[in-house]
Amino acid sequence: MNEPLPGALYLVATPIGNLGDLSSRAAAILSGVDFVAAEDTRVTAKLLSHLGVSKPMMTYHRHNLTEAGEKLQKRLQSGESCALVTDAGTPGISDPGEDAARLCAENGIKVVSVPGACAAVSALSVSALPTKRFCFEGFLSSERSKRLASLRALAGETRTIVFYEAPHRLAKTLSDMKEVFGGDRKISLCRELTKLNEEVIRTDLEEAAARFEKEEPRGEFVLVVSGAPEAEDSWEDTDIPGHFEFYLSRGLSQSDAMKAVAKDRHVAKSEIYRALKIKEQ
Ligand code: SAM
Repeated sequence: MNEPLPGALYLVATPIGNLGDLSSRAAAILSGVDFVAAEDTRVTAKLLSHLGVSKPMMTYHRHNLTEAGEKLQKRLQSGESCALVTDAGTPGISDPGEDAARLCAENGIKVVSVPGACAAVSALSVSALPTKRFCFEGFLSSERSKRLASLRALAGETRTIVFYEAPHRLAKTLSDMKEVFGGDRKISLCRELTKLNEEVIRTDLEEAAARFEKEEPRGEFVLVVSGAPEAEDSWEDTDIPGHFEFYLSRGLSQSDAMKAVAKDRHVAKSEIYRALKIKEQ
């Protein structure tokens, strides 16, 4: 189990801040593979040196995916085993591990998970927000119009939503979230998890936006935002126009609000159009 198989790609999770979080299986795989593919070989060299391991390394990052991918594929197909690691956390979650897994799977190469730290899951677990149902959105666009469009599409999402964000964009993102989701939406800002200055700020969007308008954020952040209230609680005693208004007030477009109303009431969309006296297109 801990002995790498020839020709397999191991997606090895590495710590997100605390070296103690590297599993003994991860250490065994890193020691046993023929080579390591790393997002940043300087970061990974430190980890390997902590383990007392010396390994041939190649870089695999978002700027060399094509050539490095070809090299990686050839070496794996020739029977070498490889551990792919990214800068921190679980490869494939908002990092180039996603491309490596797809490339290898498409080419019949065995892809094996060596699980461990993942910032999104750690943040969700300490957020104190509902965890029964959640969705992961990764990074929002750095372009404001695209970011707002993504947030608007999420306005009616009832599951807890997990985002990654870079510190230099935090203030703008919080202000946009407040604008789209409303200031009373709860948020847990999980900062520097597993590190010395780890902090979880459990507040609402109004306060979070105000705080980071003044304060410069430091370190890495995961934002965990509570979902919109469940429509089922409120629509059963209301008529179709009221139900429709409810979704509009949550930021849904007219067409998405109609779809949501039809779905909740288990009726055809045409019935909703009729009740709202809107011409179906
Ligand atoms: N694959 C990684 C994982 O499994 O967590 C995530 C890679 S993504 C490029 C990096 C983002 O993860 C950061 O911008 C930040 O949002 C989040 N992150 C990573 N380490 C963190 C930490 N110690 N505390 C809070 N957020 C962290």
